[in-house]
Amino acid sequence: MSGRESLAGPALVWFRDDHRLSDNPALSAAVDSGAPLLCLYILDESSQGVRPLGGAARWWLHGSLDALDRSLRELGNRLVIFQGPAEEVVDRLVETTNPSGVYWNRRYQAAEIAVDRAIKARLTARGIAVRSFNGRLLHEPWQVRNRAGRPFQVFTPYLRAVSAMPVAPPLPRPREIRAGGWPSSLLDSSRSLADLRLEPENPNWAAPFTGLWQRGEQAAQERLSTFLEEGLPGYASRRDVPAAEATSRLSPHLRFGEIGPRQIWHAATARADGRETDTAKFLSEVVWRDFCHQQLHDNPDLATAPCNPRFAHFRWAGDNAALEAWRRGLTGYPIVDAGMRQLWRTGWMHNRVRMIVASFLVKHLLTDWRQGEAWFWDTLLDADAANNAFNWQWVAGSGPDSAPFHRIFNPVSQGEKFDPDGAYVRAYVPELADLPSPFVHRPWDAPGDVLRRAGIAPGENYPRPIVDHGAARERALGAFRALRDAQ
Ligand code: FAD
Repeated sequence: MSGRESLAGPALVWFRDDHRLSDNPALSAAVDSGAPLLCLYILDESSQGVRPLGGAARWWLHGSLDALDRSLRELGNRLVIFQGPAEEVVDRLVETTNPSGVYWNRRYQAAEIAVDRAIKARLTARGIAVRSFNGRLLHEPWQVRNRAGRPFQVFTPYLRAVSAMPVAPPLPRPREIRAGGWPSSLLDSSRSLADLRLEPENPNWAAPFTGLWQRGEQAAQERLSTFLEEGLPGYASRRDVPAAEATSRLSPHLRFGEIGPRQIWHAATARADGRETDTAKFLSEVVWRDFCHQQLHDNPDLATAPCNPRFAHFRWAGDNAALEAWRRGLTGYPIVDAGMRQLWRTGWMHNRVRMIVASFLVKHLLTDWRQGEAWFWDTLLDADAANNAFNWQWVAGSGPDSAPFHRIFNPVSQGEKFDPDGAYVRAYVPELADLPSPFVHRPWDAPGDVLRRAGIAPGENYPRPIVDHGAARERALGAFRALRDAQ
């Protein structure tokens, strides 16, 4: 035992997007060190370059931290919360507690990596050991490389490479998490969860979320079990049907680390017998998440700069009224409006519809994908720096492994294919609830008497399409050709 450890300061466990006790490598290693633990969370919105959370994600974070604190208390500890630049907070804690070691799971955004590096250097210089772990991904970005030792740019070979790699088994939940080794005066400078004001008040626009979502590790485990039992059979064929509710909805839990991908991997694999196709499809989605993180790691500006530099010169239309209509679900295209209203009402949107609305914004409205990324960042409960930015670039055609720009989703045929009886549109666009199925994705084709019977007055209680599909498509292709010819 080193001289510092013999002083019996606490082991400091810094929770960051890994709000769980089971399969938490940093926590397990700290418990194994034998020292009592100081369990820490820092709300850092002021370190250089750190992107503040959006409103919906802040709401989730509140419940997530609350649940984490309750779980820690069950095992004899608690969560101590601070607010401010992480470097300053950790410096102060080191002064007051003289920790025997500092433990965390790694993060992948450039600004966070810079903060962690700076803190690690300072602690190491003081002789305090810092131990970091992979608590967030199946595999670290630098572990998955092609034959030339370079990162994969395309998903399919990445998936193939990952499929041949073993996934570490998840760690058990510690049986006891001993507290102590720090002065109670430490709490004087800490904050309560309520102090962080993460949940909205006046108006409490998140009130409907409470009935729809349960936050925390236990809820994540329950959702996984229910999904494996009820949702996984048929996942491969039903996952694209938004009304089927056939996907796991684990994304916000994964975003905040209430469940880890290795737990999902092993739980799904253990039950794969007889449902190999569904399981492989589901796990390939979890691998997409790793792939997005690898892209973020290799492209630190993923949310702000097109990976394909050619797109930096794209001529966007910059139509604010159209952007606002998109945000509010008032474009006149039913599937787009249903998606944007599902997002606003529930904090989540089905993946197929995310692709449709994103394509509509970028291509039909010729609006910079960063506007859409920012709106999703603010309104999605699962808003994730890697998944969100990568997927927006994928749709926009500027990412490393993207759909080509000239592939433009037709919002009508997409609606008719994936929501054939209009159940999804009816659920989120009540104005159209009584429109017969043949017209539910194209109300402008409905005869006057059909519209009247359905209570629809075009342009009055439901908008006419804000752009014509054919003309918008030609405009987008023209803008793309201009970009290509200018190079
Ligand atoms: P399931 O189908 O049950 O999949 C299981 C898990 O796999 C998901 O929880 C998610 O972690 C991961 N996953 C699934 N699809 C993808 C994907 N395309 N890319 C990366 N990971 C995936 N996902 C986010 O978690 N946060 C975001 O901010 C986000 N923004 C997106 C923006 C756009 C424009 C698009 C097209 C997709 C975005 N996605 C994002 C990916 C995807 O839509 C969601 O992960 C998925 O809809 C979550 O639902 P689920 O948990 O039921 O997914």
